[in-house]
Amino acid sequence: MNLGISVITIHRSSFGIAFDIDGVLLRGKDPIGGSPQALRRLYGDSGNLNVPFLFLTNGGGIPESRRANELSELLGVKIVPSQVLQGHSSFKSLLKRYENQLIVATGKGEPAVVMSEYGFKKAVSLEEYASCFENIDPLAPYKMWTTKLGLDRSSPPLNTVPRYDVSSETVLCDVLRCGGLPGQDNGHQPQPPLYFAADDLEYQAAFPSNRLGTGAFRIALESVFNRIHYNPLEYVSFGKPNPFVFKNAEAMLKQLQPSYHSDYFKEPGDSGSQSFKTLYMIGDNPSVDVKGAQQAGHPWFSILTRTGVFRGKHNHAEFPADLVVDTVEEAVDYILGRECIS
Ligand SMILES: [Mg+2]
Repeated sequence: MNLGISVITIHRSSFGIAFDIDGVLLRGKDPIGGSPQALRRLYGDSGNLNVPFLFLTNGGGIPESRRANELSELLGVKIVPSQVLQGHSSFKSLLKRYENQLIVATGKGEPAVVMSEYGFKKAVSLEEYASCFENIDPLAPYKMWTTKLGLDRSSPPLNTVPRYDVSSETVLCDVLRCGGLPGQDNGHQPQPPLYFAADDLEYQAAFPSNRLGTGAFRIALESVFNRIHYNPLEYVSFGKPNPFVFKNAEAMLKQLQPSYHSDYFKEPGDSGSQSFKTLYMIGDNPSVDVKGAQQAGHPWFSILTRTGVFRGKHNHAEFPADLVVDTVEEAVDYILGRECIS
């Protein structure tokens, strides 16, 4: 008998929270703005998640599982990998298209390892790739000091691949200009697809003033490429403020909703998740966090903190947030008050 009821929902959270990390929860590795106590309020006495929340950062360089462990340690709450969305997490959506194609990954940390974990079968680092081409960097002999940096001289080399120190822009221009094969430029090769994990011009790290981010690297690469190539550089930037990222965050938050529904009343294909009335984006960067939430539209509500990139007294002129607060603790306080949870 079909009762016409698909889900019985009790105490389902109708809101969720996405936290930016750098400049909101952490500066470098130090918690800021009362972040540990703010996050603790989102858990019940038994340690279960009461309010669905996740981390929505444009940072990255390590797999989500490792980032979750790192955040758990730094912030003192139990974080699972599905709560971590990094700039490159969106690359998972490209797996079907490029699973068996050669991927050259560059950036801080271990981008090739990250891509391999996502399932890309032929991901190599830019250094590994460049090492396949003799004399690709004429300045390599003068840069020997960089190859020794960070290496323990008493231990053998980590692998047999030569550790060339090639300038990223030079090799990337080679790759992009020659259809993926440096040194074989006939001028008519289509540019291989290029994806950036984020496009932040600057961000708040441990240093007192803002640091240049992936967006600054993109501008440098694009400027050089466009000077030496007849067609302008084509690329796609993921990360905030790309609306795709916010859609993805909404889908992940639905999965994190505490579920108290009865399976007996669930119809086949029903995920049991309920639409959110409000999703809060707490960030420190107006042109990334606030602009992204604004572009994503309903149900996103933007909260800007003064602990990172933004330090203004009032609201940001170009991308005004729905609310401006001093710290993330104040933001969580506001949200729980607004949602009638003390
Ligand atoms: Mg930030």
